[in-house]
Amino acid sequence: MHYFKIQNGILLYEGKDGQELREFEIKYDPERVKGLLQALSKLKKEIEIDSVPLRLDDYLNNWQCRYCNFDEICKIISNEPTDWKKAKEKIKLSPAFKEEKKEPKISEINKEPEDEIPF
Ligand code: SF4
Repeated sequence: MHYFKIQNGILLYEGKDGQELREFEIKYDPERVKGLLQALSKLKKEIEIDSVPLRLDDYLNNWQCRYCNFDEICKIISNEPTDWKKAKEKIKLSPAFKEEKKEPKISEINKEPEDEIPF
């Protein structure tokens, strides 16, 4: 909406279980856009200096952490500034990671998805 200068939009959700649809009208919000662009700019700088982003301030209490696939990795890395190379070493050495992450079999890697999306 921001880059195309669109003032009104619709956010369309489809339920995973029953494919029911819900739509929400969205109005362009310049303050929200400003916050999002600042967060993206900060992330870009962290990528450029090879720095692992810090955890969210309310780590594990934030709703995003409840649905995040990286919560175990986040726990291992802790919340100190570090670069990606050190973070990867920390993950490799973590007993929790070694126990849970077994090498996948070649047949599992090459396996076709059973339910393909028809579009
Ligand atoms: S668990 Fe996920 S969402 Fe929460 S701080 Fe870590 S990376 Fe971010």
